[in-house]
Amino acid sequence: MGIKIDIYDSTLRDGAQGEGISFSVLDKLNIVKELDELGVPFIEAGNPGSNPKDLEFFEEVQKIQLKQAKLVAFGSTRRKNIKACDDVNVQSMLKANTEYVAIFGKSWDFHVTDIINTTLDENINMIEDTITFMNEQGKKVVYDAEHFFDGYKNNKEYALLTLVTAAKSGVDSIVLCDTNGGTSPSEVAEITKDIVSKLDCKIGIHCHDDIGTAVANTLLAVEAGATHVQGTMIGFGERCGNANLSLVIGNLQVKGDYECLPPESIENLTSVATYIAETANIILNPSMGFVGKHAFTHKGGMHIDGINKNSRSFEHISPEIVGNTRRFLMSEVAGRTLLLKKVQKIMPSIEKSSPETMALMDRLKELEHEGYQFEGAESTFELIIRKQLGKYTPFFEMKYFKIMGEKPSVDEKFSAYAMVKVNVEGEDKISAAEGDGPVNALDKALRKSLEGFYPELKTVHLTDYKVRVLDSKDATAAKVRVLITSSDGEHTWSTVGVSTDVIDASLIALVDSIEVKLISDLERKANKYI
Ligand SMILES: [Zn+2]
Repeated sequence: MGIKIDIYDSTLRDGAQGEGISFSVLDKLNIVKELDELGVPFIEAGNPGSNPKDLEFFEEVQKIQLKQAKLVAFGSTRRKNIKACDDVNVQSMLKANTEYVAIFGKSWDFHVTDIINTTLDENINMIEDTITFMNEQGKKVVYDAEHFFDGYKNNKEYALLTLVTAAKSGVDSIVLCDTNGGTSPSEVAEITKDIVSKLDCKIGIHCHDDIGTAVANTLLAVEAGATHVQGTMIGFGERCGNANLSLVIGNLQVKGDYECLPPESIENLTSVATYIAETANIILNPSMGFVGKHAFTHKGGMHIDGINKNSRSFEHISPEIVGNTRRFLMSEVAGRTLLLKKVQKIMPSIEKSSPETMALMDRLKELEHEGYQFEGAESTFELIIRKQLGKYTPFFEMKYFKIMGEKPSVDEKFSAYAMVKVNVEGEDKISAAEGDGPVNALDKALRKSLEGFYPELKTVHLTDYKVRVLDSKDATAAKVRVLITSSDGEHTWSTVGVSTDVIDASLIALVDSIEVKLISDLERKANKYI
């Protein structure tokens, strides 16, 4: 392993500044545990003086036995013209009871004179006093030089003086911050190199993504000698976000020769990134490198062919290294090789060039054209194969249904009623059910009418229901795609329906869901479940 890099995660502080991000105390505690488990050595978690939630967090977090991570309280240099010990915010940082504190101060002369309205000399005093005070309190100090790159470009001599002052006052590391996120990679590289050559302490980097280069800037700063890297694990933060640590770690440790995390931890990168997204209640950007859902997903037929021959052909690393998984998409361009594999599960004797395979391809193209998408609806895909290959006998015939809605509803729980008539082997059965919405009522009525014939359906219930309006040039008849996930307590499966009518699309998916359950049970009985 090469040079050790101190990873410093600010998801709970800078990350929480991102629009739409809000963490409860419990969320924060859980994220701390995840990051600690992953081997992230520094976790910045806010200022206990800034709000009661942060204070409660710091009280609670002390009860957790962390494996290795150090928590860092965050706050600014003292206010102008007072003593550090008299500054409420400086004092409140001590309440966090952490070994480390991060102090941010001004490096850009314009910010000193025009934003906090003080003199350049007083700003130097503020830096010196605050760091000295923290040292006296027994704290190790990470000094964040706010707006450092803008400061350096505007008044190099003064910006350097702020760093030299911090270094002399006693710091663990000095972090060069591109607070506005507008510095280019080449500038970051050049300026970081200059600072590393001038200062005799650990240099860190803190980049924002306003011009889309936060990760590149961070990597170049490391190449220039920075050994402390700040960011947020999946990149969210103030405005356009912070340097994405999943990408930074992937680049430095998997692609490069740096050590950011214990080597055995790298395979947990994807699960931790996903966990943080879930906790923040956001969708992890599927296109994110290394950890995103699409990072190792293949759709083009030639690509899939290549991957099957040798994964190096279209993947820069093996997905398992970072705990991600390779996916092949079911689509018309997926190529016959993949299709063949799926088909062979149902009919092992089928050949790549056989007429059945060709006919299936045509059918798939047709359905995709109608708006079907089988990613996430493998069960419908398998039913189509069965139907196309003639390996399918309908379990029932849906003869008729009627739905009534009610508003305001007489019953608080039910707002819709459905009546369904099915025919099973020549016998008609009519059932009715009430439900919370038309699809719920329809689902209940349909299963009720079939349960007499197929008691195993009693265990089936919907676990997810998604509707997507498909882009349509014909605004009056936009199609919808309904994706439902069903479970019988033991297995889950997903089916899809497309129509211009949401009820109709739902019914297609519901009928498929029931068919899949019945077929699967039969197959399992015959001990050849696919
Ligand atoms: Zn920041």
